[in-house]
Amino acid sequence: MKLKRVYKPDPAAGEGRPPGPDPAEIRARRALGEIPRREAERALGLVLDHVAVLRAKARQNFSTKLVEQGVVEGWLTAGRGLIVLHGPPETAYRVRRGPGHYCRHCGDALEGEAAARAHVAAAHAGQASPDPAHPGGYERLNHFEGEKVED
Ligand SMILES: [Zn+2]
Repeated sequence: MKLKRVYKPDPAAGEGRPPGPDPAEIRARRALGEIPRREAERALGLVLDHVAVLRAKARQNFSTKLVEQGVVEGWLTAGRGLIVLHGPPETAYRVRRGPGHYCRHCGDALEGEAAARAHVAAAHAGQASPDPAHPGGYERLNHFEGEKVED
């Protein structure tokens, strides 16, 4: 997935704003990670206008951080089993799995670490995990798995 943040002048910045530091210097420092994005935007007198979707794969993982950021900034909506990037273009993903614990034997969603261990011990006793990467027989997902909704 490739997203592009598109900015517009901050209407609240106004005319009487004192001359700030050199915009090129702010951009360079931002690129080096020396100043947070929000601070750089403010210093440049910009606000986020929209987030364009430049490239979207059929299957896409979304970190909880990205989803939270998108919801707070208003360019992404999550709900009813969907993650919608408002773009342009508007791009929707059906959520296949969300953050949490899942059995690698049967795929069941499990309520936390202890429940995952108990489930594997009870439902799949004596069976080796089908997934060498998760020898305990369960995995912990920390992101959303999305499948693109084609229109
Ligand atoms: Zn299971």
